Amino acid sequence: MTFALLLVLGQVTALEQLKADESPPKGLECLARYYLGSAVKHDGRWWLSLGKEGELPWESPDGPDLEGAATALSDLFRVPYVTGPITPVEGPEDAEDPGRTRVDGLFKATYGATRREVEERLGRWRFRGVRYPVHERAVAAFDRVSVRIDALLKEKPKLSKFVENIGGTWSWRTIARTKVMSTHAFGIAVDLNVDLSHYWRWVRPRKPLKWKNRFPQEIVDAFEAEGFIWGGRWVHFDTMHFEYRPELLDPSCREGVVTPPARDGGTSDAGTPDSGVR
Ligand SMILES: [Zn+2]
Repeated sequence: MTFALLLVLGQVTALEQLKADESPPKGLECLARYYLGSAVKHDGRWWLSLGKEGELPWESPDGPDLEGAATALSDLFRVPYVTGPITPVEGPEDAEDPGRTRVDGLFKATYGATRREVEERLGRWRFRGVRYPVHERAVAAFDRVSVRIDALLKEKPKLSKFVENIGGTWSWRTIARTKVMSTHAFGIAVDLNVDLSHYWRWVRPRKPLKWKNRFPQEIVDAFEAEGFIWGGRWVHFDTMHFEYRPELLDPSCREGVVTPPARDGGTSDAGTPDSGVR
């Protein structure tokens, strides 16, 4: 091999390295795909540019705050959301629930920053013969869930009780006892049958917190297949609750995300980080 060829090869490798450094993190690319904005790099850091809504950092030296609002977009992917067989969720009460971390700025830029802005962009989700207000960006995903549930109930009509007495979809509010907007405010969440739901704050005795659920695997699978996370996968369980978080159900979004080792339970004095119905 001649020296000139080695030199060229060296340059090609350096160029590839440079290109790798210049491609945005997978998770950031996913957010740009499922939400608004585009990945940009400056000052040696990656950001999601939301145009006039400003920029959100991909990484931050601080973790999410105690109410579950993230300080950086990469926080969204820190705790993996795992689908598959329903299993009791056991863990310390201060455990972080997969998907609980949210970035208000991202949701506000994508879905609307005020009650009015969201309201103007509500579409209609037809579900079991009733129409519910949901955000127009999520209508298609909600509709695909309807198709799945209709097919399921044809086969197993006994499961229909879970999709009766629906708790609701859109509601402009924060998560109770926090300043964080509920995903219901953006029209991307639904609460199924309230009477068949278990919610961590309703459980007595409160300590130790014991996970409970009646919702069947098939209903959970139908929502998860279309990009919805389920509140039954949380230590702070809310089993009627489903919310559209496609970035958490797309495995490619987590590529390269390092999951920190699990915290040991019972030593934190920070209290319960979350509260209130989502
Ligand atoms: Zn809910």
